[in-house]
Amino acid sequence: MAGHEHVRVAVIGSGFGGLGAAVRLRRAGVTDFVVLERRDSVGGTWRDNSYPGCACDVPSHLYSFSFAPNPDWPRTFSGQEHIRAYLERVADTFGLRPHIRCNAEVTEARWDGEELRWEIDTTGGTLTADVLVSATGPLSDPKIPGVPGLDGFPGKVFHSAQWDHDYDLRGKRVAVIGTGASAIQIVPAIQPVAGRLTVFQRTPPWVMPRMDREIGALERRLHAAVPATGALRRRLLWLVRELQVGAFTRHPARMGLVEKLAKHHLHRAVKDPELRAKLTPDYRIGCKRILLSNTYYPALVRPNVDVVASGLAEVRGSTLVASDGTEAEADAIVFGTGFRVTDMPIARRIRGVGGITLAESWKDGMEALRGSTAAGFPNFMTIIGPNTGLGNSSMILVIEAQLTYLVDYLRQLGALTAAGAGRAALDARPEAVRSWNDRIQRRMERTVWTTGGCDSWYLDARGRNTTVWPGTTGEFRRVTRRVDLAEYEVLRAPARTAGAAGGAGRTAAEAA
Ligand SMILES: Cc1cc2nc3c(=O)[nH]c(=O)nc-3n(C[C@H](O)[C@H](O)[C@H](O)COP(=O)(O)OP(=O)(O)OC[C@H]3O[C@@H](n4cnc5c(N)ncnc54)[C@H](O)[C@@H]3O)c2cc1C
Repeated sequence: MAGHEHVRVAVIGSGFGGLGAAVRLRRAGVTDFVVLERRDSVGGTWRDNSYPGCACDVPSHLYSFSFAPNPDWPRTFSGQEHIRAYLERVADTFGLRPHIRCNAEVTEARWDGEELRWEIDTTGGTLTADVLVSATGPLSDPKIPGVPGLDGFPGKVFHSAQWDHDYDLRGKRVAVIGTGASAIQIVPAIQPVAGRLTVFQRTPPWVMPRMDREIGALERRLHAAVPATGALRRRLLWLVRELQVGAFTRHPARMGLVEKLAKHHLHRAVKDPELRAKLTPDYRIGCKRILLSNTYYPALVRPNVDVVASGLAEVRGSTLVASDGTEAEADAIVFGTGFRVTDMPIARRIRGVGGITLAESWKDGMEALRGSTAAGFPNFMTIIGPNTGLGNSSMILVIEAQLTYLVDYLRQLGALTAAGAGRAALDARPEAVRSWNDRIQRRMERTVWTTGGCDSWYLDARGRNTTVWPGTTGEFRRVTRRVDLAEYEVLRAPARTAGAAGGAGRTAAEAA
């Protein structure tokens, strides 16, 4: 690979994960890195999801970087445009722009075991990197189910993450497929303008009240003038969520009380017993993500809304047919059907030792060491990797913990290179990965996600929960504070000489 660019670290993706990585790398004194982004701007989730009503469902003062507090959040749960603007500001404030390569989709990355580096093909050119970090996000590739007849639908079709703002929904017959986190924000936002709105619900979600309110000017000025007040607010938001974790992970029976509150929320808004029955879940609260909304149920009782308590099974022309045979006419279909979480497309593009893709290595289920590294994929880390998702708190806490791990990983690599003969790479030992995942799966047995009686996107095709972290965020931070070299095999290559990008090409594994 002559004439290509070489960097120490290449980060894929410029959402919270990729931008956070860039900040932490710069702070650690690493400036030789790039952030590769397939789209033309940064923001990830918050650039792509611009559907009406889109907002975070973890309070903004917690759903933001600890190192970039924002005293100006306009609401307790701020909207997409404010979160996107925040991320743009992070890119500017922390001097990240020179590192960011937009319109550079990573099409393949191959581990070169001779040179101990990654060869990365992007739509903007090829480069090599010592370390590759995937921050492509768990919820970034939309999933549209294969519905028979969908191709022949004469109207408009789009996914919640690919909203077509040029399409006017006013007076139209709109079908929303799915009742997950995005759909329950979309439904109340479009109900007032749609002519007729049909919601196809496979499984009803549990919906709790959302303590959303405007954050007044005085409060914002206080947070700006006395940053400790913002920090305290964040701490309290964090603590409340940490205290809830035990009910999800060890004592699902305790969720009964929360279930009562959710039922009360439903009963207050929905008086019609038939509709109420359709909207009442038959599984333990928390088994699927608990959704927050004050406007979803009130929207469903409006006269222009129908709830079909069955999934979409077939499309016949402009007629949508549910599994239970119910039919509805539509001019537009909005898929709120989520993302490819357990079969991330990037996994098919990352080739590790022996040319094996991450997807092949994960064919029996995703697994990683401390949610971050995978055996056979040296010097590679996934941000929000397997079993790092949270049922009730801010993913930014997980991202920041993993970035601490990344910085320590680079520090240890640097130390190994300085101490030994030539450059080093770290490959997670299969037995360390196995033991980590066995422990996680054992803990998973008692959780509400396993025992709660539901089928959710947390589970993979084999019914294993490979997405959620079964502990507190404090515990996750502890287990990702340092890289334990005993869990890694150290690979060696001779040092690169000046002017030559690669080493002499011999790899020898040594015991850590
Ligand atoms: C609507 C919505 C609301 C959410 N609300 C919350 C919330 O309230 N609280 C919470 O904790 N979490 C929430 N989440 C989860 C959210 O995904 C994470 O909190 C966080 O934004 C993930 O950041 P990320 O950087 O890992 O991924 P993303 O934000 O998804 O960014 C990934 C980036 O990688 C890029 N990319 C992907 N593949 C490639 C490739 N091959 N080459 C180059 N670039 C690539 C994408 O274009 C994207 O910019 C929400 C998710 C959605 C969809």
